[in-house]
Amino acid sequence: MVVDGVRGRSAARQDTESVTCCVCGLPGESVYRLPPFGVVRCPVCELVFVSPRLSAQALQRLYDEPAYFEGGVYGTPSRWSPAMALQRIWTAGRLAEIARQQPAPGRLLEIGSGYGHFLAAARDAGHDVRGVELSSTGSRYSRAELGVDVFSGQLADAPTSEADVICFWDTLEHVPDPLDFLREVRHRLAPGGLFALSVPYFSSLPSRLLQSRWWTLKPEQHIWHLTPATLRLLTARAGLVITTMVTSPVRRVNAGRTDSLVAVGRAIPEQGG
Ligand SMILES: [Zn+2]
Repeated sequence: MVVDGVRGRSAARQDTESVTCCVCGLPGESVYRLPPFGVVRCPVCELVFVSPRLSAQALQRLYDEPAYFEGGVYGTPSRWSPAMALQRIWTAGRLAEIARQQPAPGRLLEIGSGYGHFLAAARDAGHDVRGVELSSTGSRYSRAELGVDVFSGQLADAPTSEADVICFWDTLEHVPDPLDFLREVRHRLAPGGLFALSVPYFSSLPSRLLQSRWWTLKPEQHIWHLTPATLRLLTARAGLVITTMVTSPVRRVNAGRTDSLVAVGRAIPEQGG
């Protein structure tokens, strides 16, 4: 999952920047020191984040590495790898959960669409699909091999059209500012629309047991670490409400994942006036 050649421990100090809590604006207090990075916790809202972290430019270089996806959670393009088998289970489970909460297929946007396999499955389930992907390798593969419409770049630069369903699997932990990101999601959701996400969580058993050796810590790429409580806080701040949260690794939406959760929710309607 981590690309050896770009492991952060070898990152130069000038490639890092210090940041504050995206909710409170405060610097965090140290949880783990992993030079040149630090894992810190906001003293007010308890959001955990990486500071210092890779600068935006250094991060973009990381995502442009073709090797970034290889062997990662997106699997390899090879159809029969174990990662792909798991991904098919998640995809089927997640599409079923979306259909349970919103029976009519509609306009579906996936942010951080990787190789585009989820988008292709959503299209086959009747959705009108569109993707946004930072990695040019992933977006090229999606367009050329799967024929799905994927914009290559940041969400803020992608064409703004409303969506009935917005998905972001294993993406929120990577974005520069998750509150800004969730507000952008809120902005793009059609009235009555649904959002669905997966994210590793800091209060999971593997994280608590393994501490700084937790395999998902990856301070180069995973720059925000949520818990069910801080995820609810962030979504509420962005005008969203979570209606379903799954942490169990035996449910199809989250199969085999002991340190990740899946959440589904809706926009909180604007106050009339
Ligand atoms: Zn805070």
